[in-house]
Amino acid sequence: MRLKDLFTEIGKESFKWFTTVVDDFDYLVLKKGFHRAVRKYDKDFIKKVLEDTRFWDKYEGVGKGKSALINKVLEKSILSGDWVNKEKVVRRIMALGIDRKQAEMIAVTELANFANRVREEIYKSETRVRYFRYITEDDVRVCEKCREVARRTSKGVSLERLRKIIYDVTGGEARGYQTHPLCRCAIVRAYMKEDIMQSWEKGKVPSAVKFINKKVEIERG
Ligand SMILES: [Zn+2]
Repeated sequence: MRLKDLFTEIGKESFKWFTTVVDDFDYLVLKKGFHRAVRKYDKDFIKKVLEDTRFWDKYEGVGKGKSALINKVLEKSILSGDWVNKEKVVRRIMALGIDRKQAEMIAVTELANFANRVREEIYKSETRVRYFRYITEDDVRVCEKCREVARRTSKGVSLERLRKIIYDVTGGEARGYQTHPLCRCAIVRAYMKEDIMQSWEKGKVPSAVKFINKKVEIERG
């Protein structure tokens, strides 16, 4: 993989329909993960995340058979790179007889959870970051449950702890990392954006994050 490609191919906007892109660092993490779904790259990583994530096996009011077909659509959309196009994904789900509202809800929720699983795997395999915060979308639509998870993780917790907090706050109703349908919350490293940015400016590598090295090189080159 050419490093230059990694930073230019997928626009920030492509992620925004299903997840909060917290900052440039988070964008880099997402890109690094989702790039593995692009045809010319080795797909083993993304296939493993897909397998481990498992989409919901029965959507509300939908039979198990049809739910499995919806999940095939989601999987194919990810592996083909079509996930960047919300309308395309939603229409494919609608083609299975699901109304638009539910199709959108399924696509946004499942992709958001998948994005957080991608973050998890990238952090594990590419960095030494082990403490995380839960970040809500910064608008008035954010619900109390998401705010509560964000509040309880504001100083940074392990992923095991974060999952436990989500479970406790939602009474076990969460869909993976998403506390409710249409939740776009993100898991991010527990460091403040400012710390990272300051370190970049000073030319230091913050928190032994390996691939920041690469980004700094590219920005200077
Ligand atoms: Zn949320």
